[in-house]
Amino acid sequence: CGIVGIIGGEEVSERLFDALKRLEYRGYDSAGIATIHDGAIERRRAEGKLANLGRELRDEPLPGTVGIAHTRWATHGAPTTSNAHPHATGEVALVHNGIIENFKPLRDALLAKGRHFDSQTDTEVVAHLVSEKVEAGVDPVTAVREVLPALHGAFALAIVFRRHPELLIGARLGSPLVVGYGEGETYLGSDALALAPLTRRISYLEEGDWVVLTREGAQVYDRENNPVTRPIVDSGVSG
Ligand code: GLU
Repeated sequence: CGIVGIIGGEEVSERLFDALKRLEYRGYDSAGIATIHDGAIERRRAEGKLANLGRELRDEPLPGTVGIAHTRWATHGAPTTSNAHPHATGEVALVHNGIIENFKPLRDALLAKGRHFDSQTDTEVVAHLVSEKVEAGVDPVTAVREVLPALHGAFALAIVFRRHPELLIGARLGSPLVVGYGEGETYLGSDALALAPLTRRISYLEEGDWVVLTREGAQVYDRENNPVTRPIVDSGVSG
């Protein structure tokens, strides 16, 4: 339902949580945040109101300067903590808005290869598909590029990588996603409002676009994988 990602110069989890609050108006049934810290994926997730996630974060703070956050409106799988995003393998964590229509055959093929699923969501197949490639030694950018054509349906995605705390990758098809530009930081959001506390300098991704974010900026690719430029505009929304 709502997505925020930060590849930051400073700690991100409190800022991700604040940005999620901006997305509460859309409605949600659960929420979560993942960061990369000391070469590991760290996650906090909770059913129900953001206050529940806030309590988790207070009890066990989430360190890290790159992270992703999500408010979920369940389409596949009950609104439980284990179905809450981010979904993760040993190598990648990701959040997703929308529906992966062909998740069943993808999931069956992954199960046949002996992969283990932790949720009932359509989303988790994407984490496994990207992870499979990364585990085989494919670099994160190539892995995402190769997986996107296999996904049918509607999605906005934000993905982080255990071994690559210098990268945040996004993609959109049928669900909106914007890139935000800061000072030594770059952001992803499902809308400009989500990024309002962070920046007003944003670009709107177009259908089929995917994007590689670093702390220095962003490179957008279109659906044919050509590097493209999307104009940076003033969102007009202040934090
Ligand atoms: N289809 C995904 C799920 O049920 C994402 C739902 C959403 O957009 O929040 O987990």
